[in-house]
Amino acid sequence: MIEIKNIDKTYNIGKSNAFQALKDVSLTIEDGEMVAIIGKSGAGKSTLMHIIGCIDDFESGTYILNGEDISSIKEGKRAKIRNKDIGIVMQDFALVEDYTAIENVMIPLYFTKGKLLESKKSIARKALEKVGIGELASKKVNKLSGGQKQRVAIARAIVNNPSILLADEPTGALDVKTSHEIMGVFRELNEQGMTVIIITHDMEVAEVCERVIEISDGRIESA
Ligand code: ADP
Ligand code: MG
Repeated sequence: MIEIKNIDKTYNIGKSNAFQALKDVSLTIEDGEMVAIIGKSGAGKSTLMHIIGCIDDFESGTYILNGEDISSIKEGKRAKIRNKDIGIVMQDFALVEDYTAIENVMIPLYFTKGKLLESKKSIARKALEKVGIGELASKKVNKLSGGQKQRVAIARAIVNNPSILLADEPTGALDVKTSHEIMGVFRELNEQGMTVIIITHDMEVAEVCERVIEISDGRIESA
């Protein structure tokens, strides 16, 4: 469960170009929910996602993730939580283009101790199968279509079997038909029990989710 209370986030804090991107943001997301976070460009969606994903900090407020107070722990421990509990699909795929699909999916497993290469391969292959592209495992990413690339990015995000999956504008670079297919992949993962949070500015994408949270100018407008 995600419990965020009264979070403020300012970039370049203390400098003349300081900018407050999140203002008194409070938000609760239960296990197993499928939520869209919508808002215009610059509203603070990615900033919020980076905080939920434990990849960025904030100056005030609290964040309790699965009962643990994230606000008060050190980066080392935060990184462990991130690796175990959270999968992130970054904007524009963020794949290594001249690696194969399976090599990309194996990247997060590099940090998993005590597993042999063969078993890492089989874990990565299962993740690719889960998103419907098992047969593309040994294809180089630069040979794949946009939709296939997004599936690789999702497979990489779920390879450690996280409880929470975050995706930043996952359909932003895709055509309408492919967007529907990718949203279908997220729905399936949600039906299997994963909490799924989709950042989007596309109302049609948001409507696939069961709950829509709107952010505007750094504030939650409706949740
Ligand atoms: P969104 O994802 O909704 O488009 P962001 O969370 O990326 O919005 O950005 C919110 C605001 O914070 C924007 O005005 C943006 O310019 C600013 N911002 C984002 N990242 C940084 C940064 N690293 N340094 C300074 N300002 C930033
Ligand atoms: Mg953004």
